[in-house]
Amino acid sequence: MNAYRRAVRDITDARRARQDAGLELWRNALAGNAALRDAFADYQTQAVNKAKGEPDSLDAARSKLKAEFVRAGLKREQIEPPPQCNKCGDTGIVNGKYCGCVIRRAINADRENLTLPLIDFDDAQKTAPKSMTAVYDAAHDYMRTYPDGKPFFMIAGSSGTGKTVLAAAIACAFLKSGRSAVTVSAFEFVRRAKDYHTQFAIDDYRDLFSPMLDADILCIDDLGTETMLKNITLEYMYTVVNERWLRKKYTVVTTNLTPDALIKRYGEAIFSRLCDKSLANSFMIKASNKRL
Ligand SMILES: [Zn+2]
Repeated sequence: MNAYRRAVRDITDARRARQDAGLELWRNALAGNAALRDAFADYQTQAVNKAKGEPDSLDAARSKLKAEFVRAGLKREQIEPPPQCNKCGDTGIVNGKYCGCVIRRAINADRENLTLPLIDFDDAQKTAPKSMTAVYDAAHDYMRTYPDGKPFFMIAGSSGTGKTVLAAAIACAFLKSGRSAVTVSAFEFVRRAKDYHTQFAIDDYRDLFSPMLDADILCIDDLGTETMLKNITLEYMYTVVNERWLRKKYTVVTTNLTPDALIKRYGEAIFSRLCDKSLANSFMIKASNKRL
């Protein structure tokens, strides 16, 4: 079973368990409380009378039942627990598609979707080199404006500047606020793309590839170190970058490459998405003197 369907099952199972617990609570309350039991029986009788068109005192019976309910210390939301997701009512499906709650759960439940070591954003900011101060401030704004800000956040610069730490910290902040996150190295990205490209079993490829399209935030670390596979690397890079842009999802990319090298390696279409001022916050970090 793929991760998405497993998440639907978990969500519907949990809903049923909460409903069963509510019903159990109600049964116990009735069993141990004669006044409540009588009020409920009368309410049912009056409801039947009303349905048959016979004289009834349903309103009075309802008031009495409510009073007994309150006196017993019961709460409506305990007996009939509301769904945890208002969008799908805990069915996991909206208009024939997976609900956001399913996607979030499926992505975040799979440890393979977080290949960078996660670090708390505030902690990362405190220990970041001075050369990163402005980038952290921009990252803060970037996260605050989700999903309406510029979708891409590009951090270029030589190694040892703390690019990867920032990317991981952004992913961590998304997770903390209840969103879904995927962090992959560019190398891992291509591995997944290759598996997806060559696999036939539809169920399994979803687990590998869909999270990179669906996650609220995707971090691709160290762009430029991945293998250039014909028909795969550029094609899937473009698909993911473009699709995420269309879906208003955020994407963070780190790289050691200069803008010239990026455009040469990936071409105009990818480069313009990742680095265009209207779509991307892009930064070129120089290693701090301390590190040098
Ligand atoms: Zn839902």
